[in-house]
Amino acid sequence: MTAAAAARQILTRLTEVMASRLHAQGKLDQVVEIIGECLSSEVCSIYLLREGMLELFATRGLNQSAVHVTRMAIGEGLTGAIAQKVETLNLAEAKAHPDFQYRPETGEEKFHSFAGVPIVYRERAVGVLCVQHVEPRRYEEVEIEALQTTAMVLSELIANAELVDEEEARGLTAEQTGPQTVSGLTLVKGLGSGFAVYHQPRVEITQVMAEDTEAERQRVYRAFARMREQIDGLAGQAEFGVGGEHEEVLETYKMFAYDEGWSRRINEAIDSGLTAEAAIERVQQHTRMRMREIDDPLLAERMHDLEDLSNRLLRIVSGQLGTAASQGLRRDTILIARNLGPAELLEYDRRRLKGVILEEGSLTAHVVIVARAMNVPVLGRAKSLRGVIREGDEVLLDANAGHAIIRPLPQVAEAFQTRFAKSREKQAAYASLRDVEPFTRCGTRIQVMMNAGLRDDMSALAMTGADGVGLFRTEFQFLVSATLPQRERQTRLYRDVLDAAGDKPVIFRTVDIGGDKSVPYLAAGSGEHDENPAMGWRALRLALEREGLMKAQARSLLEAAAGRSLYVMFPMVSEPWEFDDAKAVFDEQLAFLRAKKRLLPERIHFGAMLEVPALAEVLDHLLPRLSFLSIGTNDLTQFLFAADRANPKLAERYDWLSPSIMRFLKRVMQTSIGSGVDVGVCGEMGGRRLEALALLGIGYRRLSITPAAVGPIKELIRKVDLDEITTAMNGWLSDPGRNLRYELALWADERGIEYD
Ligand code: PEP
Ligand code: MG
Repeated sequence: MTAAAAARQILTRLTEVMASRLHAQGKLDQVVEIIGECLSSEVCSIYLLREGMLELFATRGLNQSAVHVTRMAIGEGLTGAIAQKVETLNLAEAKAHPDFQYRPETGEEKFHSFAGVPIVYRERAVGVLCVQHVEPRRYEEVEIEALQTTAMVLSELIANAELVDEEEARGLTAEQTGPQTVSGLTLVKGLGSGFAVYHQPRVEITQVMAEDTEAERQRVYRAFARMREQIDGLAGQAEFGVGGEHEEVLETYKMFAYDEGWSRRINEAIDSGLTAEAAIERVQQHTRMRMREIDDPLLAERMHDLEDLSNRLLRIVSGQLGTAASQGLRRDTILIARNLGPAELLEYDRRRLKGVILEEGSLTAHVVIVARAMNVPVLGRAKSLRGVIREGDEVLLDANAGHAIIRPLPQVAEAFQTRFAKSREKQAAYASLRDVEPFTRCGTRIQVMMNAGLRDDMSALAMTGADGVGLFRTEFQFLVSATLPQRERQTRLYRDVLDAAGDKPVIFRTVDIGGDKSVPYLAAGSGEHDENPAMGWRALRLALEREGLMKAQARSLLEAAAGRSLYVMFPMVSEPWEFDDAKAVFDEQLAFLRAKKRLLPERIHFGAMLEVPALAEVLDHLLPRLSFLSIGTNDLTQFLFAADRANPKLAERYDWLSPSIMRFLKRVMQTSIGSGVDVGVCGEMGGRRLEALALLGIGYRRLSITPAAVGPIKELIRKVDLDEITTAMNGWLSDPGRNLRYELALWADERGIEYD
């Protein structure tokens, strides 16, 4: 008999039992009889969770007097082990298994073979279904599959009959799996605690048994077709990872999406009488079990891809397509995702979002920049999260230490909260520097500005006491909109931002869309898909061709700044003519407004970002046209090292304190001396203490950094003597090692400067 036929036979009979008027206990008694008969098994038993213990609820073959008497703790005996690990056991000789425990009241001594499967409800084991035989033999695949299918049906019966209450199922978590630690790479420092929420939530299966098998088959067909379409169109989407690694993942996804074996197994599960959702889940459970038996890390990675895909298929088939953001966060949350785009992160409620754990991610990916601006700690490159963290688990995220504790013990949670309170005290101490001007020890005033991108960010200006906004990423408004923001909306935002800044300057960077900041409504017109988006049709390149876009933004900025100073900065300038063309768009709009006799900005300062190394070679041509230059080290360093900033594999490979970067930045500074152009850095590195120290040592006097770093960097500046650090940097750069991290740390240490 095939697995499907065996399961179907059981399911048909179970359907009758389920539909009968029997009470829950009566149904369970019938279920063990049916399974026992269909699998010709001498024993069939059902254990269910009650008051934290697994209790024998029904049996065929064991002593009836043991029913509601035999109870096992989670992790105790074979049954307890199945529930604890949520996995299947198939043993020819039960007694030989280290977890075996003999219960005399059951009369089970004569049975040798044993197979058991967990009954899973809401991702937790709430019971165990098992069979036993006198004859010592391993159960066949067909029988195990039939048991797994039956366990799914039982979970529905159990839920409907409220045989296990939800509170209890939830309460089991800590005992069931215990605390675990997940390690990763610190992407945004900080501490946060909350409950795990998956960005792509798991689908809840509410109906297990099909009413019309053919209809279920059609649903799965359609879902497969849709999923394949999605996978084919996925390249470059943030959810997927935007770095080079996504190619590999995409290939694996494609392989699974078109895998005949997978769709066939789902079809067979439907043949056995399951709904489309239950069939997908059933096959996934089975694959999970098989994979656990094969101890191969490479396969485990692939398994993780299949899990993702299976979940995607479930979402399609069930129509539950939204991310967790669309459902809203109900309590303090640690968000779990494979990867996220900046726009996806921005959809979450800032007040509830306490941290993010990603399986991918790198320091300068835009999602990380956004999280930094939101002051949300991020742990990246944490592996196989689905296997360790469940929806709703308590999570203590310590991104400073590069780990998260899942389901912590109470004393650990307490210690964490104490540390958390201390770190908040430290933050408060930085806040007290708000009104203190950042003069170095030798008396030079350093400009410490902050980076921003949304209206909400502006409150940080007053809180941190930053000197202004050195980089306002105007594309964030585009990223959070479903459609192109119209001119009026842009003007309103810019006006609000200027109002919030008062007399402090705000440098508006014109849209830098493209790369890892793609917006669907603009990409649609781009024709070909960009193979290499970071070096592709983005930022000024896109804006100059989409003249309407640039014009609308220019007009919005000019109108918003009527009667005040306007600072405009162009991103990704590679050659001086691009700057000229961009400025010409503003000049044209200015002429238009002048002709209309509208109030104009009092003064306009035009600047450029240096992000493309080629521009450094023609600075002598560009500088006379500028009033300021801002170095975008995030992009600049990825181009200097030819290392994709969003690729997690390269995340730790190149150091901002490498001699190449430092010498490059020093040369730019020296070229600019005497030009009258104000030169600063607005990349992420300026917000890190050792990097800031190095920048001061090669002549930089203006930094624009993430708001959370303003306090710590001000504190650092006040302890630095510029002559000393300049001499030291000159020395190190004339004969450098692989990077200057060690030397700088030592230097800081000797002067009592905190650097981490
Ligand atoms: C940069 O590239 O350093 C920069 C500040 O711009 P963005 O990070 O937005 O690309
Ligand atoms: Mg950039």
